[in-house]
Amino acid sequence: MNDFNIKDPEIKEFNAIIIGSGAAGLNCAIHLVQEGIDTSKIAIITEKLGGGTSFNAGSDKQTYYKMSIYGDQGDSPYELAKDLYAGGAMHGDIALIEATNSIREFFHLVQLGVPFPYDEYGGFVGYKTDNDPKQRATSIGPFTSQKMGKCLLNTVKEKNINIFDKHYAIKIIIDDNTKQREAIGLICIKSDELSKEKNVNNLFSSLRIFKARNIIIATGGPAILYKNSVYPTSQKGTTNLAIEAGCKLQNLTESQFGLASTKFRWNVSGSYQQVIPRYYSVDANNAEIEFLNDIFPSFTELSKAIFLKGYQWPFNVALLEGYGSSLIDLAVFHENITLNRHVFLDYTKNPKGFNLAELHPIAKDYLSKSNALADIPIKRLRKLNEQAIKVYDKHNIDITVEPLEIAVCNQHLNGGITCDLWWESTTVKNLFAIGEINGSHGIHRPGGAALNAGQVGGLRVSQKIAHIDYRDQVIESERFQKFLKSELINLKDQFKILLENAPNENSITPLILLDQIQNRMSKYATIIRPLKDLESEIEIIQKQINNIVESIVLERQTDIIDFYCVKDALFTQLFFLQAILNYHLSNGRSRGSYLILRDKLQDSLSEMHILPPGYLKEYKFIHNNVDLSKKIQTLQWKDGQIFIKWEDIREIPTDFGWFENVWKEFLKNKKEYKK
Ligand SMILES: Cc1cc2nc3c(=O)[nH]c(=O)nc-3n(C[C@H](O)[C@H](O)[C@H](O)COP(=O)(O)OP(=O)(O)OC[C@H]3O[C@@H](n4cnc5c(N)ncnc54)[C@H](O)[C@@H]3O)c2cc1C
Repeated sequence: MNDFNIKDPEIKEFNAIIIGSGAAGLNCAIHLVQEGIDTSKIAIITEKLGGGTSFNAGSDKQTYYKMSIYGDQGDSPYELAKDLYAGGAMHGDIALIEATNSIREFFHLVQLGVPFPYDEYGGFVGYKTDNDPKQRATSIGPFTSQKMGKCLLNTVKEKNINIFDKHYAIKIIIDDNTKQREAIGLICIKSDELSKEKNVNNLFSSLRIFKARNIIIATGGPAILYKNSVYPTSQKGTTNLAIEAGCKLQNLTESQFGLASTKFRWNVSGSYQQVIPRYYSVDANNAEIEFLNDIFPSFTELSKAIFLKGYQWPFNVALLEGYGSSLIDLAVFHENITLNRHVFLDYTKNPKGFNLAELHPIAKDYLSKSNALADIPIKRLRKLNEQAIKVYDKHNIDITVEPLEIAVCNQHLNGGITCDLWWESTTVKNLFAIGEINGSHGIHRPGGAALNAGQVGGLRVSQKIAHIDYRDQVIESERFQKFLKSELINLKDQFKILLENAPNENSITPLILLDQIQNRMSKYATIIRPLKDLESEIEIIQKQINNIVESIVLERQTDIIDFYCVKDALFTQLFFLQAILNYHLSNGRSRGSYLILRDKLQDSLSEMHILPPGYLKEYKFIHNNVDLSKKIQTLQWKDGQIFIKWEDIREIPTDFGWFENVWKEFLKNKKEYKK
């Protein structure tokens, strides 16, 4: 191991650095090459190649969303943009870009080997997913994003693009002396060089420095925040990199939650529900109850809700009334979080009251047409989708004999970094955000739109870097050194404190702090959002942030990554909870994936409480006439404070071009490729 020279450290220089090796990051690297950037000038920096959500998540039928191009189905970029935009709190021009480029990116994946199914005429057939009025969704089965990741990685390797594996990014170097803040480099920790010793110089020598004209954040969703989560355990997310860099973030109130198994993290959507399994919960003494029967008035209503849960997977306020399928999520949440009971799906027995004659027709027809009617859920599942049983079997869970523990889990963040039409941060130049860390989506999005957005983002970034502006610019050495030095001095001081902290009554380990953070998310930031005590909880977070370096005790140097992860989680939590508090104070109503709980009603806003049925009425939630869906809530960290602003959404552009004019403009902008 070399001694790190703070005066003259080794610096690697690239035109473009991509942080993260998920489907979004890898695709961007490929597009940069295709758009003319030399491979030697591109680097992918990643915590763990093969880690992250894309490579490790899946579901019953993992969906990719694109414009329909099948048979006589009428569709257009504008039609698709309208449906993305209809989700609310989304900019129309971004929706149009995601729609317009969806086909190009879809075929890019097809060309790289992702086997999306087509018919005998070569037509890429689609199906309807959630929030989708057409049949735009496609899938290759449970592992769509994993296959995408593999095909993209093969191409990255074929093109010899530089990959720096086991590099954990901790700081984006920013020049804040310019008119607009500018990203100029990155500091990482080489995680496999960390030793067990507690030695500052040794820790310092694990640092790696990168200078880059363009930095693309592709670090995925903030998976670390939630205890009940269906993100793969290898994904943690690094939102704080962007917060500290000065990026504006948006729509942090908008996440997706749904039912998933917890021992092995997997969405229990689609056929897992369509076969009408038995739901039950147990307390600490193993006393069992079938809690859903006390909420639904009949087995017919219950079977309809369970069946629909299959393809109405994300929790949705709009699907509570009339004994809707989201009541199931609320009931599971109540058992699990409020009553502290364990909740299970049982495929070996029918739910209480099961009776074929009373099975709701929607379920009966489907099961009968699929030739999947049988006397118990596991037999129905075997007939409907044998693969669904095998997925668990591979993870040593035999659902043919044992129950499956489930919870309402966090799955996706629709919000994230605020970017312009080229996926560049609106507040930090040369800093881009693609994939889940980009906050392009609002309250709802069609299932599968996340994977499409991630691919389109990489294309846009590469076009901007290669043609519009940033291909040939370089960062002067003196300027870089100045900002690097100040970051290194700060880091050295921080490392010294962290490694030399002696345990005292205020000390805390990263894991204990993470537990506190996750418990707080369960209480204030899942499908239930109570205002009560939120403000005082935020004050506690603020204090923890102020003391984080002094209060954390690291047992060994290798714990430094845990420190950064938990620091990231704490800052990100502060942003999330401030966003939620501000939403309450702006009189926001229940929407999308969450119920707003406030005791006091305001007559002037026609505020009322809506009561879910049965004992779930304790979650009486707010409805009012305040519609914030035409606005986007943004948050930015400046001088140690969070500034929150509501911005109007931009409409979908309708000034569609004239060929001759677009062509002229295109030729003017497109720089010659450097061979
Ligand atoms: C269970 C589940 C099912 C889903 N189903 C669908 C679906 O059907 N359709 C759909 O469209 N979307 C779906 N999604 C969402 C979608 O899979 C993700 O949004 C998408 O895969 C994210 O891709 P990404 O490239 O942005 O991030 P990821 O694939 O998560 O990659 C992030 C990368 O960043 C790296 N990284 C993070 N922090 C650092 C750091 N500090 N330094 C270096 N590297 C770092 C990680 O190691 C990883 O390589 C699902 C998600 C889940 C969890």
